Amino acid sequence: MHLKILTLPGDGIGVEVTREAVRVLEAVCAKFGHTVKLTEGLLGGIAIHKTGEPMPPETARLALDADATLMGAVGLPEFDNVPPSQRPEKGLLGIRKTLGVFANLRPVRTYKALIDSSPLKNHLVEGTDLIIVRELNGGIYYGTPRGISGEGADERGTNTMTYTRSEIARVCRTAFNLARARRKKLTSVDKSNVLETSQLWRRVAVEVAAEFPDVELEHILVDNCAMQLVLNPRRFDVLVMENMFGDILSDEGAVLAGSIGMLPSASIGGKLPSGAWVGLYEPVHGSAPDIAGQNKANPLGAIGSVAAMLEYSFGLLKEAAAVNHAIEAVLDQGKVTADLKPKGKPLTTEQVGQAVCEAL
Ligand code: NAD
Repeated sequence: MHLKILTLPGDGIGVEVTREAVRVLEAVCAKFGHTVKLTEGLLGGIAIHKTGEPMPPETARLALDADATLMGAVGLPEFDNVPPSQRPEKGLLGIRKTLGVFANLRPVRTYKALIDSSPLKNHLVEGTDLIIVRELNGGIYYGTPRGISGEGADERGTNTMTYTRSEIARVCRTAFNLARARRKKLTSVDKSNVLETSQLWRRVAVEVAAEFPDVELEHILVDNCAMQLVLNPRRFDVLVMENMFGDILSDEGAVLAGSIGMLPSASIGGKLPSGAWVGLYEPVHGSAPDIAGQNKANPLGAIGSVAAMLEYSFGLLKEAAAVNHAIEAVLDQGKVTADLKPKGKPLTTEQVGQAVCEAL
């Protein structure tokens, strides 16, 4: 196969982990006889510095032209106090909108070698294998009206959570399909005891369930879900939820996996101009300014995102499995970065990337 990939390394450790992810992508393609054409684009703080915009039009053009996009992370502390519309993170929302991705898949697995890295008791996290499906294109992050108005004691901040039936149905369908290929259990997360958007969400989830009689559907309130994820994570297979709930709960998933640096993600949605399915792949973590530029970042979330890309965008299941096995082998050998608290000296970002290539 010929793979046309756009990379958007972004800011901070995004650059460091993307470099290793690309190295692994090239290694796995060489091993299985595929060719890769890589193009690099600008997103986030670096794009603001070079073009004045967090997502320049050229980046949108490149993303629509590629078969799939591999992203690092965006965000620079120097922009912490500027309005949201001028921050690097605006680029993130921009690329997601441009590509029309609406489902963000965040697999959370507990690796045997990492069980001691989780702050939770071993018997609780052992065997965890779940996927959080987060709606990505709607909800409170995009709803209007929004803004800050008035002044003094009456100054008011406003955001709006809104969902249409079709937005809910398409992400639920994606989650049902994933569950069908796994352990056939879907948990729909909402806050239907308080929010009207959640009441509609629950109703639509039940309607879509009729198309998937082989998948068991359960509903759970988001606050209870936050508790169950740490009390009994093994009870979950696939979870589906709106944008902000998914944003928050997927970071809780990082605790189960041992480090946020371990978590890959895949954002999928409609079709590209070429007719291929859209795919945007990135680690769950941010640009980690506290460790940026120190060759300390864990690249395994970014490398796992390459595995997700091979599987979801190209249907290369053997190749994806080879990358995941190589990650597991490196963990078993204790070749890990400092965040995973190795017994010996931690490896650098680059050494872990090299170790995954060797394991491949
Ligand atoms: P973060 O994920 O960057 O970091 C949180 C903590 O986890 C830090 O202590 C960091 O050192 C650690 N960490 C993160 N990734 C790691 C890795 N691969 N290896 C080892 N340790 C790792 O979250 P934050 O500190 O809340 O945000 C920093 C910046 O990143 C902000 O500007 C934020 O807006 C942005 N951000 C971007 C994305 C994205 O691009 N998708 C996601 C989240 C946050």
